[in-house]
Amino acid sequence: MAEKRDYYEVLGVGRNATDSELKSAYRKLAKKYHPDTNPGDKEAEQKFKEASEAYAVLSDADKRRQYDQFGHAAFEGGAGGAGGFDFGSMDMGDIFGDIFGEFFGGGRSRSRSNGPMKGQNIRTSVRISFKEACFGTDKELDLVLKDECASCHGTGAKAGTKPETCSKCGGKGQVVFTQQSLFGVVRNVQSCPDCRGTGKIIKERCPDCNGSGYISKKKTISVTIPAGIDNGQCVRIRDKGEPGVNGGGRGDLLVEVVVANDPIFRRQDRDIYSTVSITYPKAVLGGDIRINTIDGKVEYTVAPGTQTDTRIRLKGKGVPSLRNKQIRGDHYVTLVVQVPTKLDNRQKELLEEFDKAMYGEEEEDGSQEDGKGKSRGAKRGNKWKK
Ligand SMILES: [Zn+2]
Ligand SMILES: [Zn+2]
Repeated sequence: MAEKRDYYEVLGVGRNATDSELKSAYRKLAKKYHPDTNPGDKEAEQKFKEASEAYAVLSDADKRRQYDQFGHAAFEGGAGGAGGFDFGSMDMGDIFGDIFGEFFGGGRSRSRSNGPMKGQNIRTSVRISFKEACFGTDKELDLVLKDECASCHGTGAKAGTKPETCSKCGGKGQVVFTQQSLFGVVRNVQSCPDCRGTGKIIKERCPDCNGSGYISKKKTISVTIPAGIDNGQCVRIRDKGEPGVNGGGRGDLLVEVVVANDPIFRRQDRDIYSTVSITYPKAVLGGDIRINTIDGKVEYTVAPGTQTDTRIRLKGKGVPSLRNKQIRGDHYVTLVVQVPTKLDNRQKELLEEFDKAMYGEEEEDGSQEDGKGKSRGAKRGNKWKK
C-alpha cells in the first residue's frame, strides 16, 4: 500500500486551518467523492474514505493535537492492528448529519443504495464575457454524457441473462460487521464489497457496455444563461446529468458561469463601476463628455468646477436583476482630472498667463519663481514623496 498521506494534505488545507476551513474543505471533497454520487467507482470511494478519516481526526480537537504531535503514529497499534485508522470508532453519524444534512437529504440515501436512485449531477463550467453576463446569452456545450445501454437496458448483464441477487448481502447492498476498537465494540455498516452496494451480481457482462449498463456519447447541449448572472453562479439543466440507478431519474447538469474580467467595467452585485478621464479645462469649465456603459456610449454634462475623483451615478445603467431584468442597478463613474504632461511652448505660455491672471504676479511664499520649472518641480516632488 502506498504511504499514508498527510491529513492536512488530503483536505488541502494549511496546518493552522480553522474548524470552518476544515469543514468546508471536507464538504467539497465529500460531495465530489461520495459513494452515492459515484456508484461503483473504487477510486472515488477510497478518496472519500481518506477525506472522511482526515476530517474525523482534524475536526476533533484532542485527536488533532495528537496527530500534530505524533502524526499517523498517534492512531496506530491500539486499534486491533487492522491496519490504519480505527474508522468504526468515530461517530461518523454526527459528522455525516452535520455535513451531509444539507445536500443529501439527511444522509438517508446511504441506506437506499439498492432502490431507485436519481443519477448524480454533472458539473461543468462555461466562460462568458462581462456583457453576456449582463444581458444573458445562449451557449452550446460539448459534453460526454452517459445513456442507458440499449442492449441490456442498463442492467449490465448480457442479453438473455439477468443480474443475480448478491449472496453476500442478500441483495441489500450493505453488510454489517462488528469491530473491536479502543472504545469498545462498534457496529459498522458498509457497502457490500462483492456487489459494490448494488445488491446484484452480474455473471455475464453485456458486451456493448462492458457491464456498466451505460454508453457514453458526445453531445451538444445548449444552455440559456439569464441576464444578470454573476461569476460563480450556476445554471441548472434538468435531467442532463448521469442516468439514474435501478430506475431512478437522471441527475441534473449544473453549469457554473465564469465571467471574464472587463477592461472597463467592474461589477459589485447589480452595480457597475468605471473610471473616466476628463481634461483639466473640462473639469474647470464644465461640458459634455461621452461615457461607456454596457448599453453603449451615453452623453453626460460635467458640471463646471468638477474636482478629480468625483463620483457620478448613471441611474439604471447597471446590471439587470436576475429575477426581473426590468430592474437594473446603477453605474457609478469616477471622473479623474488629467494633468497634461507634454506641453508645447504656446501651451506653456497660456498656462503661465492663466497662472498670473488667476494667482497674481507674486505668490506669498515666492512660489512664482518655482513656477517657471513647473513640470520638473512636480516630478522632483513625486520622487521626494516616495
Ligand atoms: Zn449493456
Ligand atoms: Zn452484495
